[in-house]
Amino acid sequence: MSNESLANLMTEDRRFPPPAEVTADANVTAAAYESAAADRLGFWAEQARRLSWATEPTETLDWSNPPFAKWFADGRLNVAYNCVDRHVEAGNGDRVALHFEGEPGDSRAITYAELQQEVSRAANALLELGVATGDRVAIYMPMIPETVIAMLACARIGAPHSVVFGAFSADALATRIEDGDARVVITSDGGYRRGAPSALKPTVDEALTRPGAANVRSVLVVRRTGQDIGWTEGRDHWWHELVAGQSPEHTPEAFDAEHPLFILYTSGTTGKPKGILHTSGGYLTQAAYTHHAVFDLKPGSDVYWCTADVGWVTGHSYIVYGPLANGATEVLYEGTPNTPHNGRWWEIVEKYGVTLLYTAPTAIRTCMKWGDDIPAGFDLSSLRVLGSVGEPINPEAWVWYRKHIGGDRTPVVDTWWQTETGSMMVSPLPGVTVAKPGSAQVPLPGISATVVDDDGNPVANGSGGYLVLTEPWPSMLRTIWGDDQRFIDTYWSRFPGKYFAGDGAKKDADGDIWLLGRVDDVMLVSGHNISTTEVESALVSHPRIAEAAVVGATDPQTTQAICAFVILRGGARPDEDDAALVEELRAHVAKELGPIAKPKRILPVEELPKTRSGKIMRRLLRDVAENRELGDVTTLTDSSVMDLIQSQLPGAKSED
Ligand code: ATP
Ligand code: MG
Repeated sequence: MSNESLANLMTEDRRFPPPAEVTADANVTAAAYESAAADRLGFWAEQARRLSWATEPTETLDWSNPPFAKWFADGRLNVAYNCVDRHVEAGNGDRVALHFEGEPGDSRAITYAELQQEVSRAANALLELGVATGDRVAIYMPMIPETVIAMLACARIGAPHSVVFGAFSADALATRIEDGDARVVITSDGGYRRGAPSALKPTVDEALTRPGAANVRSVLVVRRTGQDIGWTEGRDHWWHELVAGQSPEHTPEAFDAEHPLFILYTSGTTGKPKGILHTSGGYLTQAAYTHHAVFDLKPGSDVYWCTADVGWVTGHSYIVYGPLANGATEVLYEGTPNTPHNGRWWEIVEKYGVTLLYTAPTAIRTCMKWGDDIPAGFDLSSLRVLGSVGEPINPEAWVWYRKHIGGDRTPVVDTWWQTETGSMMVSPLPGVTVAKPGSAQVPLPGISATVVDDDGNPVANGSGGYLVLTEPWPSMLRTIWGDDQRFIDTYWSRFPGKYFAGDGAKKDADGDIWLLGRVDDVMLVSGHNISTTEVESALVSHPRIAEAAVVGATDPQTTQAICAFVILRGGARPDEDDAALVEELRAHVAKELGPIAKPKRILPVEELPKTRSGKIMRRLLRDVAENRELGDVTTLTDSSVMDLIQSQLPGAKSED
């Protein structure tokens, strides 16, 4: 594999046929593409019938005031009823909704009937706290069932939630509370992370001292770890007292399809996070449809597991809303993949017989780094479909995932989408689309996506440009919270009439789409556009490299010079004399992609700066490469990584 260039990976012989045992159903067939292409709105109107509406919509799309869309506008529904109650009414109350696995090894199965009671109690508690329809509720929680219950309780009473990842700083939390003007915060004393209790409540207390958070009147606190926490009488309430004491019955009210469901901030990879607003009917329609179609879901027999955190959009759409709307049984895991040992994930797959797994390329590369023998020690034969999201998946990681986790039987679906799109947009369908490792391939049925040049004209097959969405879709963001102008400027101004995703992409000879990373990250080297993704992929195809991040740094001769940060395999320390390796890597990239793509500098480091959703923050590395002061670091997993990288710089090698 390592001797082949990305271009070679796109040739016929690298394609994997869909595995025979994946059975196609009515919505997972090639015919869905045709029917959706023939009548796109009819297709979505049909998908909306997956939901139970209090008032059926007669209107599918109102696009009279672009880019402000209304989907199913005259329909009314309750999102929580769709995710919970209707499954109980259909006789599936005894089906497990959530298999919760705590990091310390405690576990709890929650059926749909139990979920209905818990969500009703929590909804009643929020009403007692005075939460009215339309009030915003901030949720700052670990990965425990109460987080899902809290989100559904908000949806049930029409109070939009704003989930903030449970390890963001007090500042990051306070900014989001202020921006969304939240009235209530739901949190816990703490959660288990990396083998120890990690506190959350003190961060909330600190955030609430900021002037912008002055409108928060109540804090609802789940007891998870039992650690000591501060308490503000009158403001703070224990979940196990206030919620447990409520009636397990609550009659859900129907809201307009366009009623706000949640605000969620983007992960901040490229700049200041944006508060993305999603609404109810269209969002739930597409989340449910895509979860069903892309995973070929069989509710009642499949066990699904999405390893994402609910603090980002994958958790919203593919832990909470999509799977629960479909009546799925799923695993919810609190902790990290390596606690207490590097095989923890595979132990969970074996324990619950997970059939559908959805994770991120960064996690796959980390597992690759730990070695093939770790997954080999577990029975993973239950797995049937593997998904990937968050970044372009490099072909090496794709092939490893399929071989060592799926055992060569399972399709891998590389799903491209964003916080803004709400649901999956570009992805193969298992059992239908012939797989190409490293490519998200084709827009899903009902989705219109293409790649355009600087002037907005579709590029020819074999060429690259900008990924755009040319028609509105049901789960599209409705605006940036409180900032319609930023919504228009960010997404709809670059190419009039089209949604600009901010990502670069190319079309291969068949017209299949390959994502190339963010346009902001594309490098201009001596008049050539070079994608960070391609250079990174070439670097990790070298046997000694586990991970790579590439940025373009301003250069007097070449406009930008390619600067690569690499992590060595097997945890090798970068402080040895790496001159020979650096030379070898430069030659390797030149051979894979051509001499123009040869990095000018290669810096072995111990860690890369990543967001909580596992993405590399290239803008910070660009700051380092250009000796600038670092930009916003609030969404980093671990901000000390930047100190570590900077402290390693004096020993860094520079070549010309
Ligand atoms: P911000 O917009 O604040 O910089 P972000 O873009 O990282 O944050 P998300 O909405 O979580 O926030 O991420 C969406 C982005 O992730 C996409 O625009 C794309 O760059 C990348 N991405 C997600 N899935 C894939 C995939 N399957 N292939 C390639 N890129 C992907
Ligand atoms: Mg983005």
